[in-house]
Amino acid sequence: MTLPIILSKKFQEWKNSNFDNNKSQYKKISKEKQKPLAMIISCCDSRVQPTSFFKAEIGELFIHKNIANLIPSYEQNNNENSTLAALEYSVQELEIPNIIIIGHSNCGGIKYAFDKFSGDKSNSKFNFLNNWIEIIKPAYKKLNINDPKDIKIRKLEKLSIQNSIKNLVSLPFVKKAINNEKIKIHGLWYDISTADLYNYDFKIEKFIKIF
Ligand SMILES: [Zn+2]
Repeated sequence: MTLPIILSKKFQEWKNSNFDNNKSQYKKISKEKQKPLAMIISCCDSRVQPTSFFKAEIGELFIHKNIANLIPSYEQNNNENSTLAALEYSVQELEIPNIIIIGHSNCGGIKYAFDKFSGDKSNSKFNFLNNWIEIIKPAYKKLNINDPKDIKIRKLEKLSIQNSIKNLVSLPFVKKAINNEKIKIHGLWYDISTADLYNYDFKIEKFIKIF
């Protein structure tokens, strides 16, 4: 299958400029073991681009994308292994010093989970997705039923990050790395329309705007 023309063109332009201008750097890092400064779990959403907003250089970010930037609990690992495999590799092999979960506004995965858990059956065509979003359920249960729907969905985007952090720190290899002060865990929530960035404060259990 031929690559779409727009992508072919963009690749060619990139190779002729960015790559050609940094050829020696590319050659150098290809011979070394990668040493990223952060492992990132972010949503598949095409509007969430950590390499772009962190202005990442090659080799700096180790990124795993999945629907709604979720981390399964240790007990849920039979349903899903790729996220945990990426985490395991990043912690045990690459010894990456930071794990950052990045949630975002207008997340389709979170909205779908919210609708589904609220009893909306209009999207029952999904099979794998329905299984996947079960990870969000403990966060959904923490919502205040009296809040308006849009507030609840926005809260769920953040509660789900907290839930993933809880799952993350309960993984044995992560727990060990935290105890040995090898890694730091971060939770971010990013607003697509304003580029506002919120950081999760573990002490007060709230997201604080940092940019
Ligand atoms: Zn999303």
